[in-house]
Amino acid sequence: LATTPELIWFNGRLVPWEKATVHVMTHALHYGSSVFEGMRSYDTARGPALFRAREHVRRLRDSARVYRMDLPYDDAALVDACRAAVRENGLTNAYLRPLAWRGAGALSVSPVRHPVEVMVAALPWNVPAGDESLAPGADVCVSSWTRAAPNTIPTGVKAGGNYLSGQLVAMEAERLGYAEGITLDTSGTVSEGSAENVFLVRDGVIVTPPAASSILAGITRDTVLTLARELGLTVREERVPREALYAADEIFFTGTAAEVTPVRSVDGVVLGDGARGPVTTLLQRAFFATVRGETEDRRGWLTYVADE
Ligand code: PMP
Repeated sequence: LATTPELIWFNGRLVPWEKATVHVMTHALHYGSSVFEGMRSYDTARGPALFRAREHVRRLRDSARVYRMDLPYDDAALVDACRAAVRENGLTNAYLRPLAWRGAGALSVSPVRHPVEVMVAALPWNVPAGDESLAPGADVCVSSWTRAAPNTIPTGVKAGGNYLSGQLVAMEAERLGYAEGITLDTSGTVSEGSAENVFLVRDGVIVTPPAASSILAGITRDTVLTLARELGLTVREERVPREALYAADEIFFTGTAAEVTPVRSVDGVVLGDGARGPVTTLLQRAFFATVRGETEDRRGWLTYVADE
């Protein structure tokens, strides 16, 4: 989907793509010591706008804090780096990847003496928001891989190493012919996809697993919960047993990349009438209107790339 941008923001300045490189002894390469974000910019009537940049930068800092990593830039500088990466590459619809990692140094598992490096790449991502190709829905499976236990590596923050689990889930799903896998947590209840949160709808009530289900509590998840409540829908954050997946009227994924993606079947069990359901459709529309700035931005969720 994404192609390569000309410039990448790398340790404080924009550098050409081919100059944004790291040393082979980079700690993160050996031990997974990176934290990152996925963020989007969408074309709006006032030019491209980052969606919920403040929350993404805050989560990056939270992830860094857990791993005792001092980010050498404050939040405003990081948001400005994101804006610059979109603006200076002439992008509108883009996927942004802010990443901070432990750089090169002596060989040691403890990372505390390794330098912290930061980059932001903005990749063109021109799939039109609200694309009707999202309508039929994804065929997914329940993964044979369990989400990491809460006292192993924290799933509530976004660290590079967490995506070893995500890779196993995604590769298994792909090998079996599914679009995605849904993991269960160590108690056997529903957790999330490899890079998406999961929502179920039954009798008009929307349910999503709580933060305690070893999920990354996504920013899109929060956006959809907020929009659903605003629309007067009933939403509950509660533990979801596996069997509820097969009995749901509708299921959808949320995520920065996934946006709001309907699910058509789980392990071959077709949900509802096998097409995108009414609640998913309603929330998808509300979501796209919000990110494109078509509805009033009462919460300050949009950061315009061109503003001074
Ligand atoms: N869970 C995981 C494991 C993820 O990687 C992501 C993507 N960041 C999500 C959920 C969704 O989070 P968000 O809506 O903030 O992108």
